[in-house]
Amino acid sequence: MASVKISIIGAGSAVFSLRLISDICKTESLAGSFVTLMDVDESRLDAAYILASQYARDMKANIQFEETIELEKAISGADFVINTALVGGHAFLEKMRKIGEKHGYYRGIDTQEFNMVSDYYTLTNWNQLSFFLEIATMMEKLSPNAWLLQAANPVFEGTTLISRKSKIKMVGFCHGHHAVNDIVDTLNLEKEKIDWQVAGFNHAIWLTRFHYDGKDAYPILDEWFKEHPNGKSPKNPFDDQLSPAAIDTYHFYGRMPIGDTVRNSGWKYHYDLETKKKWYGGPWGGADSELGWKWYEDRLREITALTSKTAELLKKNKNVKLSEALSANFSIIPADFANEVKSFYDPSILSGEQHIPFIDAIVNNHTNRFVVNILNNGVIAGIPNDVAVEIPARVDKDGIHPEEITPPLPERIIKWYLYPRMARMEWALEAFEKKNPDLIVEILLRDRRTHSYEQARAVVDEIFKDIS
Ligand code: NAD
Repeated sequence: MASVKISIIGAGSAVFSLRLISDICKTESLAGSFVTLMDVDESRLDAAYILASQYARDMKANIQFEETIELEKAISGADFVINTALVGGHAFLEKMRKIGEKHGYYRGIDTQEFNMVSDYYTLTNWNQLSFFLEIATMMEKLSPNAWLLQAANPVFEGTTLISRKSKIKMVGFCHGHHAVNDIVDTLNLEKEKIDWQVAGFNHAIWLTRFHYDGKDAYPILDEWFKEHPNGKSPKNPFDDQLSPAAIDTYHFYGRMPIGDTVRNSGWKYHYDLETKKKWYGGPWGGADSELGWKWYEDRLREITALTSKTAELLKKNKNVKLSEALSANFSIIPADFANEVKSFYDPSILSGEQHIPFIDAIVNNHTNRFVVNILNNGVIAGIPNDVAVEIPARVDKDGIHPEEITPPLPERIIKWYLYPRMARMEWALEAFEKKNPDLIVEILLRDRRTHSYEQARAVVDEIFKDIS
């Protein structure tokens, strides 16, 4: 049992904070730890701090919290820094998307082949990438032995960039691989008998190994597809693991795309809303259509409203428990999030985010299996060593031990998906590092939505007008 200083950057994040804090409070082997919540938005930060402190009291967890708007204070002396910040927020993403659409780029210029995820900007997000490097540089000075746990997107570009530029220990995390469970549940298989591996890049992972009771389970999946050629109808925009797009992708590449990989497909499924509806199901057409993304943003707004209303209530009445304060506002939030909030009070259920179990594995040698983003260093054949891959690994007090990928990724995936995705990552990072908008124009000239050089030039000029 060891106490550590964990700093959460972007702690006002609607998605992450409550999950991470509940995991910390439930992990008894981290009792006595000190958590610094850092955000530039004081009201969101304050709400997160009030909720976290009350939650720890309710759970009788021995965890101390502090809040700060100073990055330096958060990083100084930290053992683990978790970055969940989105510089400029969703408003920046929507502003960029709008400019792109004005110039004829449906869903904005950051929407690219094999990168359709609507908050995974790689071309216009220089402030976000600069912030990643600012954190790493500051850690080198103020907490050189600390780990950086990167949750903020883009995890693929970010992990590659930081790992190339900095000597700090780092790992990128995504929860997309949990979608393997959607397949297991749909096929009515027993989880304990499954042996699986995924490999690829972040938001580009493939079910390389899928065994059930010691035998290849792909034939079971093939049988299900024969009986359900149109897959499953979605319950929400993100429910796409068994969508027609996923099945079609599998048939071309030979292995199942997992999690966000299903969204990150080629233009075939994304030309326009009607096409998206055909492949991802109605009424939304997947998470990244204008309808699906609105669903998601409305949900984030509802959750943010819930946290600030709850914080107000707790400020006024010190005797109220967090669970009571939250449930008073359950009517204003989606039912599934209300259920998730209830699960925060079940000590046996962790959130599924990997950050806190990873810290526990490193600090307390509680060995565990994770899906991590780290530099390749030979794990995936055919991919350079200095490119971040997403792979399963065992983690213990000595660090991250990648699994051997057996069977390996098929050539079809490496040559037709990973190579072009990797090239786009390299182009985006070069444009960012050289601060050269002309390179973004070049990227757009390779984009099917571009009809003329003038179109690409105009959108880039409007977006980067303040860069000399
Ligand atoms: P959000 O806008 O709700 O929260 C981000 C927080 O960052 C806000 O509270 C904001 O004030 C704060 N912030 C902005 N600039 C900051 C700065 N300079 N210093 C400190 N804090 C700052 O965003 P969100 O929807 O919660 O997403 C956050 C990030 O997480 C995004 O990059 C998103 O793509 C990513 N994400 C990752 C995963 C994953 O599994 N890895 C899953 C979902 C979202």
